[in-house]
Amino acid sequence: MILLNGWDRCPCDVEPSQERSGPERGWGATTPRVVGRMGLFKSKLPKTGRPLRPKEKEMLKSPLIIFVMGGPGCGKGTQCKNMATKYGFCHVGLGQLLRQEAQRGTRRGQKIREIMLRGLLVPTGIILDMINDKMLSCPESRGFLIDGFPRELIQAKEFERIVGRPPDVVMVFDCSMETMVRRALHRGQVEHRGDDCEPAILQRLETHYTLCEPVFTFYQQKNLLRNILAEEAPENIFAKCCSVIESLQRLEGVGG
Ligand code: AMP
Repeated sequence: MILLNGWDRCPCDVEPSQERSGPERGWGATTPRVVGRMGLFKSKLPKTGRPLRPKEKEMLKSPLIIFVMGGPGCGKGTQCKNMATKYGFCHVGLGQLLRQEAQRGTRRGQKIREIMLRGLLVPTGIILDMINDKMLSCPESRGFLIDGFPRELIQAKEFERIVGRPPDVVMVFDCSMETMVRRALHRGQVEHRGDDCEPAILQRLETHYTLCEPVFTFYQQKNLLRNILAEEAPENIFAKCCSVIESLQRLEGVGG
């Protein structure tokens, strides 16, 4: 087992700074009942991203930008890797980038690790800077798969304000809560990911169900939302992802 600066520690070992109280949510009789507050964390970390220079905005005008949303264990990471390979896109995996940052011995890294182990959301400024830095570091890429974004409405709006354009499409991996919990618990055992244990998974689900809903509405109104039923075998899910990508007019003639 690889120990990553305490990254494999379950969040039950982390002192809680947020009360877990609030209304129970009715997600069906067979699903675990999740109680708690919205998954937001109060900290001094930046809430807004740095503005882009006109030249940087120009660079991000033409590549395809695809947001990929879904709860923990819905399979978005695996499918993003497959899509990135097939279409030569750059995979911007936020969870992965944040875990790398969390392993640094800096105060900022420690704060991020603490937030993630509790299953809460890292402040928007950090997320936007991370996405933009990664996209700008791949100027030749014809497409970006931004995996795990946006997770709350302010992130969606900040992206448009800073980058100056919306995404081309938003994929949502739709999965039952039971499936997500089962997959995430299994991954926690195999990969020793500290936030893949029960208390953190439940908090991440709470965060997902409460904060993502307004984001879905926002993109539904722009006609950018594409639901992908993510309960089936990975190859069937991949086929659905490919048909979404290939239906984008801007990619006409691209079949991988
Ligand atoms: P994931 O690997 O996508 O399940 O993300 C793992 C954790 O990283 C989440 O539970 C959050 O703590 C953090 N995270 C990932 N994406 C975001 C985001 N867009 N905004 C805030 N926090 C995020």
